[in-house]
Amino acid sequence: MYDYDLLVVGSANADLVIGVDRRPGPGETVLGSDLAVHPGGKGANQAVAAARLGARAALLARVGDDGHGRLLLDSQRAAGVDTVGMLVGGAPTGVALITVDPSGDNSIVVSPGANARLTPQDVRAAASLFQASRVVSAQLEIPLETVVETVRSLAFDSRFVLNPSPPGPLPAEVLAACDPLIVNEHEARFLLGASAGPAPEDWARALLLRGPRSVVITLGAAGALVASGSTSSFVRVESPRVDAVDTTGAGDAFTAALAWRLSRGETLTEAAAFAARVGAAAVTRQGAQESFPTAEEVFAR
Ligand code: ATP
Repeated sequence: MYDYDLLVVGSANADLVIGVDRRPGPGETVLGSDLAVHPGGKGANQAVAAARLGARAALLARVGDDGHGRLLLDSQRAAGVDTVGMLVGGAPTGVALITVDPSGDNSIVVSPGANARLTPQDVRAAASLFQASRVVSAQLEIPLETVVETVRSLAFDSRFVLNPSPPGPLPAEVLAACDPLIVNEHEARFLLGASAGPAPEDWARALLLRGPRSVVITLGAAGALVASGSTSSFVRVESPRVDAVDTTGAGDAFTAALAWRLSRGETLTEAAAFAARVGAAAVTRQGAQESFPTAEEVFAR
């Protein structure tokens, strides 16, 4: 019996957002809107998305001993995430400085801060969390060696889910543990380079050859493609048609929902079909964490 459905190992950032009429050029200053500060980072987002759905979720992350760190701890607790694995100190909390123009285009500067100090040693020190977690998920906003140690720390029959975002080279040891590897089109093309074929089925086939046990490719409004290495089968799952307002965090909501449903014993295709409904719900509202639905909201649609 596991204490946690999902342990997320990943980043926690403060998103600092300013609206501007146009973004400044070199050496230029422009005036913008009032500052909005939101809890973010892919790890923090996934943990909140899972907890909002009803998962017993924990987050292993590092924040600074500062106001942004307290914002992140508070937002995780408010969502019902167990913060026993949230480490404090070592560097300022990671920050994303975001300017958004009236067309919705944004420019983002990220200071990884404490996220870059989440070390393999921190993972080893959290061994009891790993032993208590049915599914473990990670992304790439923390050091790659920390993701490698995450894979080495998995409990005997727990399951590992990776969203390699932002995309970077992945060691064979990490790829072999993924069940599934979850990528969007951009991440699939990065991992495959010039060898990427024209269709998602081509990408899935080529990605499976790299070693993951299964692959899920998210396709925005078109849903997702599920590819299982054991059966070499491909299944498309549909996303409900919705009026998309803001797609920020859709990928995080999808990954968290899929991981949670896997922890409940669903097949990968069943879990992906549910996750597509969660991703669709998330794009109907502004923001990232603020947009994540409860399970009741998903089932009511
Ligand atoms: P992001 O980086 O914006 O968080 P992503 O690029 O990682 O997202 P997407 O493929 O855009 O991931 O979206 C993840 C899932 O969310 C999709 O598989 C789909 O189920 C749902 N989704 C995203 N956009 C839409 C949309 N416009 N309409 C319906 N569902 C959507």
